[in-house]
Amino acid sequence: MILDIVKLGTPSLREKSVPVEEINDEIRQLAEDMFETMIEANGVGLACPQIGKNIRMFVLIADDDVRRVFINPTIIKTSEETCDYEEGCLSVPQFYESITRPEKVTVQAWNENGKPFTLEADGFLARIIQHEYDHLDGIIYIDRGDKEFAEKTEAQFKKRAERAAEKAKLKEAKAKKIAAKIAAKEAKKNK
Ligand SMILES: [Zn+2]
Repeated sequence: MILDIVKLGTPSLREKSVPVEEINDEIRQLAEDMFETMIEANGVGLACPQIGKNIRMFVLIADDDVRRVFINPTIIKTSEETCDYEEGCLSVPQFYESITRPEKVTVQAWNENGKPFTLEADGFLARIIQHEYDHLDGIIYIDRGDKEFAEKTEAQFKKRAERAAEKAKLKEAKAKKIAAKIAAKEAKKNK
């Protein structure tokens, strides 16, 4: 099932997520749905807060094409060497920025079968892990870049969210009006 990806301006993206309590069929199905959603959106990673669920889990597919699920992850080591990489985010569509992060990370987590694992990652994989891990703490990649760019982007998405809410309200009012008109007509007919 394809899930809705929430955009910047949605509160769940800014909240700290809570640990997954039990790795069960529901969680496995959620991971499946997240892979489906991510692939359809041409993404390489997707974290639970991005689908409006504030639990500590993310999925990714790096350049080795392996599907990886990270549940209750902890980054236990980061390298001193850093590197720059142009990042984007499915929750911040059409925006990209070069972000500096550690080149290598070691992460501990559980997979979808409840098996704990430790993974040493570098390159693209390390980059995605750090980006997705941030989502679990309510951090968006723009927070780690140019401050002005972050503020501008956030303001733009906030405006967009407000406009969308306003539009939805108008649509609802219009639908109510039409429904009332139809009801009045029906009442007349039945007299
Ligand atoms: Zn993201």
